[in-house]
Amino acid sequence: MSDDFIPYGRQSITAADVEAVCEALTSDFLTQGPLVGQFERAIAKLSQCKYAVAANSATSVLHVACLALGVGAGDIVWTTPNTFIASANCALYCGADVDFVDIDPQTYNLCPVQLAQKLDQAQSAGRLPKVLIAVHFGGHPCDMRALYELAKAYGVHIIEDASHAIGAKYKGTPVGQRYSDICIFSFHPVKVMTSAEGGMAVTQHEHLAERMHTLVHQGVTKNKLELETISPGDWYYEQQVLGFNYRMTELQAALGLSQLERLAHFIERRRSLVQRYYQLLSGLPIQLPGEADYAFSSWHLFPIVLNEVLTEQRAPIFKYLRDHQIGTQVHYIPVHTQPFYQQRGFDWGMFPVAEDYYKRTLSLPLYPDLTESQQQRVVAVLREALDQAVIL
Ligand SMILES: *Cc1c(COP(=O)(O)O)cnc(C)c1O
Repeated sequence: MSDDFIPYGRQSITAADVEAVCEALTSDFLTQGPLVGQFERAIAKLSQCKYAVAANSATSVLHVACLALGVGAGDIVWTTPNTFIASANCALYCGADVDFVDIDPQTYNLCPVQLAQKLDQAQSAGRLPKVLIAVHFGGHPCDMRALYELAKAYGVHIIEDASHAIGAKYKGTPVGQRYSDICIFSFHPVKVMTSAEGGMAVTQHEHLAERMHTLVHQGVTKNKLELETISPGDWYYEQQVLGFNYRMTELQAALGLSQLERLAHFIERRRSLVQRYYQLLSGLPIQLPGEADYAFSSWHLFPIVLNEVLTEQRAPIFKYLRDHQIGTQVHYIPVHTQPFYQQRGFDWGMFPVAEDYYKRTLSLPLYPDLTESQQQRVVAVLREALDQAVIL
C-alpha cells in the first residue's frame, strides 16, 4: 500500500501489541493456553455477560451460535440484507433457509416496523424463523428493545451480530448484555479492534456457552459431568456431537488482549473524527450517518448516502476518490442480490430500502490512526468529485 493511499479502514498496531504477540510466541503454548481464556473473560466483562467463547473468526462463531440455538434443516433464519455475507451464510451452513428483513432508511439497520409485518405474515403462513440475526451496522446498535419484544412475542431467538460494534452501547448498556440469546464480535483487522483473525460469542446462558465451546473444539468434551462413560483415566475424552476446529490461537488472544487495552481510546478517536466529518461535510448533497438517541455507536464505518439526483454518479465518484488515493468502499451489496442467493430464489426488488441505500452509499475512511490532515484531504477530494458530478 503506498504511503499516500488512505484506506477506508485500517488496524492500529503499536510496539506493545508486537511485544505481546512475541511473548506469546516464545511461551509454552501457541494454542490452547491461558491467554484465550483470559481474552474470553475480558470480553465477557466488557459486555457484562457471564460467558464468552473465542473462535478463529466471527464467521465461525456465527456458525456455532446458530447450531447452539438448534438451527438445522427445515428451520429459517432471518437477517438484514445490508450486511456482510457471513451473517446469512451461517444459517445455510446448518442446513437451514435464510430470509431477509428490509432496513430502516435512517440507521440502515434491520427495521422493527418491517419485522413486525413480516412476523405477522410468517405466522399466518406457518413459516416463523427460529433465529433473527440483528446486525449493528457500522457500529450503530439496532433498536434492540423493539426487536427483542417482537422476537419474544413470536418465540424467535436473537443473535446479535456485533462484528462492527464492540464497545457500542444500547440505552447505556453494552451490546449483547440483555436483548439477545448470543452476541458475537469480529476481530478482523478492519473492525474496531483486532486479533488478526478472530471472533467471540458472549451470552448469559451457561448451556449455550458450553455448546458453543464444544463445537469450537471438535465436538469433544473432557468434562467428567458430561461424559457418557465413567472416565477410565485422564487421557479420556468423548466426541458426542460433530464439531469443528474453530479454535483461536494464543497469538491471536495476545494481540486481542493488548488491543483491548486501547479499545476505549479507539472509539473515542473514531467518535472525534466523526464530529469533524460532521463539520467538514455540512452543506454537501449527501446524507450523513447519525446516531439515534438510544445509541452509542462504535463507529466502525462512516457511510454517506448521495442525494437521489446523484444516484448515477456513485460509480464515477467512487472512481474519482480511488484515482486520488482515497480508498472508499461500499457497505454493503445487499446479500440477497449475490448470484448465490439469486440462485436460491432471491432477486433485485425484494428489499427496496436496502437496494436504494446500496446504490447511493460510500464509506469514507475512518480509523484511529487517520490524521486530521488526511481527513481534510478525504473531504477536499470528495468535494471535487461532487462538484464534477453535479456538472455531469
Ligand atoms: C466482518 C463481518 C463478519 C465476519 O467476520 P470474520 O471475523 O471476518 O469472520 C460477520 N458479520 C459482519 C457484519 C461483518 O462485518
